[in-house]
Amino acid sequence: MRKIRIAIDGPSGSGKSTIGKRVAQRLGFVYIDSGAMYRAVARQALAAGIPLMDEARVVELAQNLTIEFVPGEKGQHLLVNGEDMTEAIRTPAVAQGASRVSAIPGVRRALVRRQKEMGAAGGVVMDGRDIGTVVFPDAEVKVFLDAALPERARRRYLEDRRRGETADLAATEKDVAERDRRDTTRADSPLRQAEDAVRVDTTGLDIEAVTRRVLDIVAAKVG
Ligand code: C5P
Repeated sequence: MRKIRIAIDGPSGSGKSTIGKRVAQRLGFVYIDSGAMYRAVARQALAAGIPLMDEARVVELAQNLTIEFVPGEKGQHLLVNGEDMTEAIRTPAVAQGASRVSAIPGVRRALVRRQKEMGAAGGVVMDGRDIGTVVFPDAEVKVFLDAALPERARRRYLEDRRRGETADLAATEKDVAERDRRDTTRADSPLRQAEDAVRVDTTGLDIEAVTRRVLDIVAAKVG
């Protein structure tokens, strides 16, 4: 397989990271979770007591953060300023915070620049909201994953429960809907399907079926 770039975009809970990881593994590509980078900025701002509406300070923090993805025994780890934040960024508060800091243009500029560098050599699957539209507008393969809101909320809810959090389905659905609204209406790089992306509705499909579908799209595009 040629070292192409595969962009996977879509709303929260559409299955991007689960599918992205599996597709990367099957192809021997590197997987990059761009959402984790926005989460890292939000987590550090919250931990440092920086108000998320203080754009100048949040941008400065984003510009100075070291963010690394390193392979570990049970999958990839996220190191922020050298510290393992793999679990710490997965809380509902950090998810909401990420959605807020990701609307700040200076934060996007700082992270998009690094994402472009990470993908420059190719052989990468990157998932997010703006990968096909902004980060890699010339990616060889673009997929837009979507699913009905109740199903996306249910997936997030089950994930939170698995992590031992006390989750509530109705609250999770509200949370996901709120992030959808913010992500699709922000002025800078709103979530939208790239014109040349292939849309896959994952409602009612299991992980293996979606993985196969995406691998088929890759095969059809690049042979
Ligand atoms: O994908 P994940 O839920 O981890 O992303 C967290 C938040 O980061 C999203 O709600 C979105 O606001 C933001 N994000 C973004 N652009 C990306 C990836 C994530 O704005 N490429």
